[in-house]
Amino acid sequence: MISTLEIPVHKTTKSRLAQVDMNHLPFGKYISDHMLVADYRDGEWQAPEILPYGDLSMPPAMLALHYGQSVFEGMKAFRMADGNVSIFRLEKHYDRLCKSMERLCMPLLPQELFMEGLKKLVEVDADWVPSQEGSSLYLRPFVFASEERYGVGPSNEYKFIIFTGPVGPYYPQPLRVKVEDHYIRAARGGVGYAKCAGNYGGVLYPTQKAKEAGFDQVLWTDGSPELNIEESGTMNVMFLINNTLVTPPLSDTILDGVTRDSLLTIAQDLGYQVEERSISAFELKEAFEQDILKEAFGVGTAAVTAPIQTIHIKGKDYSVSDYNEQSFCNQLKKRLTAIRTGMEKDVYFWNTIIQK
Ligand SMILES: *Cc1c(COP(=O)(O)O)cnc(C)c1O
Repeated sequence: MISTLEIPVHKTTKSRLAQVDMNHLPFGKYISDHMLVADYRDGEWQAPEILPYGDLSMPPAMLALHYGQSVFEGMKAFRMADGNVSIFRLEKHYDRLCKSMERLCMPLLPQELFMEGLKKLVEVDADWVPSQEGSSLYLRPFVFASEERYGVGPSNEYKFIIFTGPVGPYYPQPLRVKVEDHYIRAARGGVGYAKCAGNYGGVLYPTQKAKEAGFDQVLWTDGSPELNIEESGTMNVMFLINNTLVTPPLSDTILDGVTRDSLLTIAQDLGYQVEERSISAFELKEAFEQDILKEAFGVGTAAVTAPIQTIHIKGKDYSVSDYNEQSFCNQLKKRLTAIRTGMEKDVYFWNTIIQK
């Protein structure tokens, strides 16, 4: 691919921006005016273009629909205090997309196509980046098998698409979660570490069952009798035990969350001890009983941190004390937000700035 990627832009003549109330942005509802599309065929990725967001036409025999060869990323761009826009951790998201694509047997996307594509698309729809506190522009790059064929096997054709949409702040209602001891999300040697579509299809049913039983989410385990904790819903999970931040170590059953990595870095710099190690539901139970489990929270791009109030372990509820502004998970979130919006120096070089 050429080194300075020129991406043609076909602008919409009918912007939908005026129909959006930036003060009320339910997650996943609004989609910005434009999308980027690039095709893979004849053994290579073709030149991308930016088009008005709109429907695709696809054959019913398209491979992704049948055999799940489909991966995605979830990331965000922020309005900074000076009016510029920052995209958070582009490279880390690219690296993860590559890992997912490799696991799903897809031809890797050139780094430049991902990076320049996102930057250009965010620049074109910069007016869609909200400035309200806690709001952001959600970015959804994804790749799927687009070949028309129903014989199982890696596709010879793919589509890479990015669309974006403004999202509002996440108001944390402390969660009530259940340590899931029947269903599992991922198994050793499987695709748990890949951000592939099927991982989401697979968790809908156990999550719905947990909701029917009065829980908000599921705490996934490794399925062993030890019930080692892995993730919380579709987020990574962290525990504050005394003054130590504990989170399960990365493996092929745990998604390598960018928020997880960022918050571990920040926590360390705030002087907290950080441990990436296995933690079983039984250790959690003991920590509750000794009153040393101070906080539990999910971490991910959508919510940043989602505090957990109650954990249901083998038939019994255990609760942490109430959360407030000073809670550790809220401090972490504040610090991360300050870096992303330019209120604090970006000492880790996490922001890619798009000039206004
Ligand atoms: C995307 C995802 C996460 C969180 O990753 P972030 O990069 O922090 O958004 C955690 N677990 C699963 C299963 C995911 O799909």
